[in-house]
Amino acid sequence: MALSLSQRLDFLASLKSSIEQFEPKILEALASDLGRPPFEAYTSEISFVLDEIKVLKKLERWAAPERVRGSLFQWPGSSWIYREPLGRVLILSPWNYPFQLALAPLVGALAAGNTVVLKPSELSPATSQILSEVCAKAFPKEVVGVALGGADVASRLLAEKWDHIFFTGGERVGKIVMTAAAKHLTPVTLELGGKSPCLVEKSADLKVTARRIVWGKFYNSGQTCVAPDYLLVEEEVEKELVGLLRDTLKEFFGEIPKQSKDYGRIVNAAHFERLSKYLQGAKIAFGGETDLSTRFIAPTGLLDVSLDSPVMTEEIFGPILPILPVKDVSKMVEIVQARPKPLALYAFTKNPQISERILSELSFGGGCINDTLMHLANSRLPFGGVGTSGMGNYHGRYSFEIFSHKKAVLKQGFFPEVKFRYPPYGNKLKLLKKLS
Ligand code: NAD
Repeated sequence: MALSLSQRLDFLASLKSSIEQFEPKILEALASDLGRPPFEAYTSEISFVLDEIKVLKKLERWAAPERVRGSLFQWPGSSWIYREPLGRVLILSPWNYPFQLALAPLVGALAAGNTVVLKPSELSPATSQILSEVCAKAFPKEVVGVALGGADVASRLLAEKWDHIFFTGGERVGKIVMTAAAKHLTPVTLELGGKSPCLVEKSADLKVTARRIVWGKFYNSGQTCVAPDYLLVEEEVEKELVGLLRDTLKEFFGEIPKQSKDYGRIVNAAHFERLSKYLQGAKIAFGGETDLSTRFIAPTGLLDVSLDSPVMTEEIFGPILPILPVKDVSKMVEIVQARPKPLALYAFTKNPQISERILSELSFGGGCINDTLMHLANSRLPFGGVGTSGMGNYHGRYSFEIFSHKKAVLKQGFFPEVKFRYPPYGNKLKLLKKLS
């Protein structure tokens, strides 16, 4: 079942009004799953999805057949790209931005005319429940179905034949998804994670740098796929930056971050335990306090970290920031190049030659110069990884494109009949070479 353009627009309008209607419950669910402050929950989850829907005011134009130039040999015909729905799409989403990461791809899949089955994460149960209610209100089941459950439900769904699978999650499950898709030759988009470096060069405005790093790292308690995972800072300015990071934390979350209403919680006890292990025997620059009963881990900085320790080889995905002093930018480039290509990279510097050097020598999904996370807030930029951080990208028009098949069509009439390409070829080759 492919959706017509007017059906797509109607369903997207109905999704928008369902989200608006459920807004208080969505905020409650995000607070229950992740302790998310309403400001963060609204901006990074609800309004993010509403903005993705808003971008689709251009959908009619994007979906129209697109004429492209032809060559002499197609004359007098015309060449066209027709964008058509792929068919049935499976979306598997994670728990860290459980609302946005389920619905942003869903908006793209519907905009392109597909039907969808969504399997949100079992680790954010309150939000997954609300997602199923929002979708039940907005769509008939045959257009969007929501399957609640864990790996068992995902495995059953993966055994079916789909026309596209869109997966957001970790590398381990990404491999399971791709293996299952290979059985049916189903195309996949994999939005994965990894360790996103943050580089600080000595010319940077350190006060602003500290503020932007603290914001991007500790937003959602560090449970952000594009959060700065670790810091490489030019050794000359390390002490000053650590001091400024401490000051900024106080400014943002007060003397006792546990009492701050603006700081979230770790999603569950298993992740709390996993993260707590990084703190054992570590040299703490700031933070370090934990409380299992409320799944609280303070915004924490680590010093004297070795490059081959677990905290520097595994994706942290929590509020722990290793800070490594590095001799110079060449050494930073060397460290990043020796590791898998990251999903995001951030570099702080006032020197445009250095930022251009970093952009040309390092490969990463996307990132910012002198900021963190904010590249995601522009739906005109494609979002996705490279190498082990993922394949394919979406947001805005890119979502529409990734869920569309581009059908190439040449339209000819019957007159005039140009016979040049037909045998007998005679000396047509000579003529052809002269013409081209
Ligand atoms: P995950 O890979 O554990 O789970 C993602 C989804 O896969 C969930 O719906 C889950 O139920 C399902 N799943 C789990 N085990 C499965 C199995 N054996 N077979 C089939 N499906 C299975 O990821 P997560 O813990 O929810 O999220 C954290 C990871 O996701 C991190 O690595 C993070 O970097 C990454 N992430 C990436 C992005 C991005 O946009 N690139 C965004 C958020 C999170």
